[in-house]
Amino acid sequence: MKFATIQYNGRQTVAVVDPEAGHAWPIDAALGEPVDGMLDLIRRFDEIKGRIKLDGQPVSLAEVRIEAPIPRPFRNILCVGKNYHEHAHEFTRSGFDAGAKVEDAIPKKPIIFSKPPETVIADGDPIRYPHGVSDSIDYEAELGVVIGKGGRGISKADAYSHVLGYTIINDMTARDLQSEHKQWFLGKSLDTFCPMGPWLVTADELEPENLVVKCWINDELRQNANTSDLIFDIPTLIETISAGITLYPGDIIATGTPAGVGIGFNPPKFMKPGDRVTVEISGLGRLSNVLT
Ligand code: MG
Repeated sequence: MKFATIQYNGRQTVAVVDPEAGHAWPIDAALGEPVDGMLDLIRRFDEIKGRIKLDGQPVSLAEVRIEAPIPRPFRNILCVGKNYHEHAHEFTRSGFDAGAKVEDAIPKKPIIFSKPPETVIADGDPIRYPHGVSDSIDYEAELGVVIGKGGRGISKADAYSHVLGYTIINDMTARDLQSEHKQWFLGKSLDTFCPMGPWLVTADELEPENLVVKCWINDELRQNANTSDLIFDIPTLIETISAGITLYPGDIIATGTPAGVGIGFNPPKFMKPGDRVTVEISGLGRLSNVLT
């Protein structure tokens, strides 16, 4: 199933969506009881999923505004750095990976950082160009994992039973800040720097270890990879993070970006005002935003 957060009839609600048919079923009607947003749906998902009925009249997707699937995560989005082999090499070669030596390009353990919830924007929302703050704006197409059942000390073997579904994340990055401040939080956390969506797709619809990840700047294909190339797979990421940090329903893990980001080119191809960045992942749709 695909779930979106939509604005419909002047209010925000969760809906089941069928993008091919162009239909959305607001969840209150489909379930016969109210749901208090996507986080509430995620927390109650196991209990309610069998009762969602799509026999009512859908609304047209053309009549609704689609928000990010989790418009305000309740805490920081967990992100993974340098998690595709080719990207790890291009990042280290670029000189923007502060202090990293060429022989240290491939991390031995997952690199985890985070982005604050306020960075999240929807498909189609403008990404704000941070004039006077950074002039090296880059994109990172990523598979986002949405945790369903929380837990601490989750083993690799159990990891997928804690995943509710997936969405697309664009881990926008100010490379100069990432490099100069020797820590990634600042350069990853500028306002509007986390486009997410367009919807959340439940885990039963996808093979997460075999998804094509593509990213265009305007009409130029920049990134084209498969999640099978991840250095640390999803179970390893969940085991690593949850070892000492309790994961909660609705937590999001952005699994890292493949090669082809702006700093992978020589000279770097940073985004300019007016550029459109579009991310597509098989089964998850397209996430497209203009830097303005
Ligand atoms: Mg990233």
